[in-house]
Amino acid sequence: MATYAYRCPDCGAFDTIRPMGEAPERVECPRCAAPSPRAWTAPRLAGMNPALRSALAREEASRDAPEVVTRASGTTRR
Ligand SMILES: [Zn+2]
Repeated sequence: MATYAYRCPDCGAFDTIRPMGEAPERVECPRCAAPSPRAWTAPRLAGMNPALRSALAREEASRDAPEVVTRASGTTRR
């Protein structure tokens, strides 16, 4: 089984557990039953490394609430 993330347009993100490879493009929101699209392209496996799991959670949070970057890496703005 794998956990897949979806995002309801009204209620926000939620997870659903389905067999590997059987996650539809949309599922009903568990709260309001609205069709909700997949939020991630890759499934999160139940036995995932905790460090990687937390890193992915940080990555997800950074979409809506990015942490302040004190120094850009790679590129220099002039
Ligand atoms: Zn909803």
